[in-house]
Amino acid sequence: MEDFRERFIMCCQSTFPCFRDPANNTSSGTEKRDIKVIVNEGAAKRANMTLPPTPVEKPGYVYVALYDYTARTEHDLSFNAGDKLEPLRKEEDWWYARGITGISANKEGYIPANYVAPIESLDAEPWYFPETKRLEAEKMLTSQKNKNGAFLIRNCESQQGELSLSVLDNGKVKHYKIRKLENGGYFVSKTRSFFTLRDLVEHYSRNEDGLCVCLAEPCKKTHGLSYNTVDHWEISRSSLKLLKKLGAGQFGEVFEGIWNDRTAVAVKTLKTGTMDPKDFLREAQIMKKLRHARLIQLYAVCTTEEPIYIITELMSHGSLQEYLQKDKGASLQMSDQIEMGAQVTSGMAYLELQNYIHRDLAARNVLVGDNNVCKVADFGLARMENENVYEAKEGTKFPVKWTAPEAIHENKFTIKSDVWSFGILLYEIVMFGQMPYPNMTNFQVVQQLPKGYRMPCPLNCPKYLYDIMSECWKDSPADRPTFETLQWKLEDFFDMDLKQSFDEQV
Ligand code: ATP
Repeated sequence: MEDFRERFIMCCQSTFPCFRDPANNTSSGTEKRDIKVIVNEGAAKRANMTLPPTPVEKPGYVYVALYDYTARTEHDLSFNAGDKLEPLRKEEDWWYARGITGISANKEGYIPANYVAPIESLDAEPWYFPETKRLEAEKMLTSQKNKNGAFLIRNCESQQGELSLSVLDNGKVKHYKIRKLENGGYFVSKTRSFFTLRDLVEHYSRNEDGLCVCLAEPCKKTHGLSYNTVDHWEISRSSLKLLKKLGAGQFGEVFEGIWNDRTAVAVKTLKTGTMDPKDFLREAQIMKKLRHARLIQLYAVCTTEEPIYIITELMSHGSLQEYLQKDKGASLQMSDQIEMGAQVTSGMAYLELQNYIHRDLAARNVLVGDNNVCKVADFGLARMENENVYEAKEGTKFPVKWTAPEAIHENKFTIKSDVWSFGILLYEIVMFGQMPYPNMTNFQVVQQLPKGYRMPCPLNCPKYLYDIMSECWKDSPADRPTFETLQWKLEDFFDMDLKQSFDEQV
């Protein structure tokens, strides 16, 4: 609520000059001593009482696209980030809109409502990435699409309510804390403060003024091509071209493909007659409900005729297991490995929060993209945690070495059995994809675990990492950490040696 109030006020300040302090009305960058109270509690309440309806709700109000969107049906509008659109009819998640500028200028059609934001709002700023974490910001900024000086502003992870500025400088990302003045306004360096974030960005775009580099282009935004709504998943098979085989699963093959001649995708096919299509599509049903930067994103399905397709985002380097085995430490360093583990915990912490369990977490089921980006995949066995689901049929292949003892012996699959599997996955990461329990058979593992046997600390594995693995392999599921805890433990590794070069660099 507080956050909303602040954002509302900042939006008013940037949109309506009357909300600024009259003495400083024209200034953007000002010396700190000149900063006056801009808004106080009383003023905020008055503002709420006397303001006209927020521009967001005004009919005909202009919105700006935050991401590129490619129309998936003839009723949708395609647009690029930055295009202006006017919603004509707002229907829940999909709005009927008219393009004002860009590729759909003067055309009308449906747009996904969460791809646009009111033109004057903070959300519409191309550099505002509120939900982006530090590690993710680094990944995004160092992607090849960004040039030196690319930047974004995000919520600070370690201090709630604070913001951070992340900037790309010579291939490295630097982070600065953006401080809020008690009475409104922002500053990075104590010597200069600003009414709005926009003012701050404008100033540092003109002038380095103590930052590592002058701010240049906002970080490029990317988004999946699908939008989560019931009727919009099915696409026409003819819009897909299968290019090359990437691999094969138990029930079909996976291809690299291209959708509408422009979007690279992965297409998982079901070999006719090998499995009930309903069971195969269960994976897609689960994926429809999940949306997180560290989980493979479902794009679409083709289900009206066989072979059935599940279409997802394409990950350029395939499975983590193969990626690690190929590399064997040639380019990956311990810090990369820990970061990969942290990315997996981030996706799993989201599943944990949504009360889902994965039930098949292993390096073979994590996919890798450019810049070591890792995403959890293979939701074929995933379920809601309270669903009483698992009935291991005789002859079912069981990934024994990844499965927690209570799941093997009592069929008890919970998020804590996923945590056990994560400990094994961490071992795979550290050992470059080597088979866990290398000198033991599945049978020996099943026998030895209840007697307290655990894999010893691998050679060259830092103690704090092995401690994390050991926590995951605690006998009692309740004693194992949550994914949320695992995430901060691994991410904390990056915060250990932070340097404070500029006065507020974090
Ligand atoms: P199963 O489905 O039987 O558990 P699996 O997990 O090995 O088997 P799939 O998920 O079908 O199989 O994937 C097979 C292989 O295809 C993967 O190991 C990976 O190399 C490749 N692959 C799958 N999905 C993608 C993707 N989205 N991007 C890139 N490669 C992928």
